Amino acid sequence: MKHNLCVIGYGGMGGGFHVKNALTSDVVSLAGIYDIDPAKREKARANGIKAYESLDEVIADESIDLVTVAIPNDVHKDTVVKCLLGGKNVICEKPVAMSSDELQEMIDASKKSGKLFTVHQNRRWDVDFLAMKKIHDSGELGGIFNIESRIHGSRGIPSDWRGEKEHGGGMVLDWGVHLIDQILQIYTEKIEKIYCRFDHITNKEVDDGFQLYIYFEGDKRAYVEVGTYNFIALPRFYMQGEKGTALIKDWRENTQVVTCKAWHESDVVPVETAAGLTKTMAPRDEITTDTYEVERPTSDVHNFYRNVCAAIDGKEAQFVTHDQVMRVFKVMEAAFESAASGNPVYFPNKL
Ligand code: NAD
Repeated sequence: MKHNLCVIGYGGMGGGFHVKNALTSDVVSLAGIYDIDPAKREKARANGIKAYESLDEVIADESIDLVTVAIPNDVHKDTVVKCLLGGKNVICEKPVAMSSDELQEMIDASKKSGKLFTVHQNRRWDVDFLAMKKIHDSGELGGIFNIESRIHGSRGIPSDWRGEKEHGGGMVLDWGVHLIDQILQIYTEKIEKIYCRFDHITNKEVDDGFQLYIYFEGDKRAYVEVGTYNFIALPRFYMQGEKGTALIKDWRENTQVVTCKAWHESDVVPVETAAGLTKTMAPRDEITTDTYEVERPTSDVHNFYRNVCAAIDGKEAQFVTHDQVMRVFKVMEAAFESAASGNPVYFPNKL
């Protein structure tokens, strides 16, 4: 039987994604929406969607067993806790909260009510990430020691609540939360240290870009970068292993892989650079390397809700867990601390 869903927030994500996908879902049916803005409720009705007049009315409707909270970040916690304690299973948009303390309150409310609580970390289904994870897990590049994950745009930070600190704006909370979550899905090692710097090119109040270094046990490292003032974008993913390198230039493209099949070369021809010669940096040939493409894995936008519904029914484990979400939040909090102090943040007990 389908679960009956109410979407809280009929904005870009609530209306443009959750409602839209609920209408074609095989696991949820759409009961309706609630938005604090009467104009949004009218818009929903004009689109043939039931609009509840208040959150209390949503909670009082016993036919609804699942709500998705898609409202600005600073109002997630109160809404999520109220829905959980009101007996609903809850999906919350990312970033789940404004702090790890708020997140803990939400987790406590989930445990107290016995209701499922999870976070829409939908970018775990991105095909570029899935390709990198597949190559990492396959071992074809040997031990991986460096992963670089970048998203570059050129329009600055959006001029809505995302540019304001009090609403949980800034690129660490907006995009960083996805990219950090992806890295923590690839590496299984614990974190020893992070270092972060913020950009303030178009916005002085919140970070409109950042550069985050994450150091893991076993000399493994990740670099996560978000930029909103990059008129030329650097590649989306770059991964180095003991046996080769993988690259995804753009999330619409396949992965390029070069593996090293013979370390020693008999005769390296030096290349001429601008004003000199180098053998060290001379490109390799096909005698010592294999070059191939890995096709993008397939992915289905409905799989997140399928897992949530199966978890409510006790048939699957919840895919986005409380511990994972808390760990990502601890990394983001450390990023804020590092950017403010200009120093690395160490995790003596490992994170
Ligand atoms: P938005 O500004 O387009 O829409 C937010 C809506 O929430 C508005 O219609 C507003 O009236 C309503 N609202 C505000 N406070 C409310 C309250 N207390 N109760 C009910 N309604 C309220 O914002 P958006 O882009 O839809 O973002 C919403 C959430 O979704 C954010 O947490 C954002 O980070 C997240 N998001 C996630 C993704 C993703 O890929 N997972 C993408 C975009 C946004």
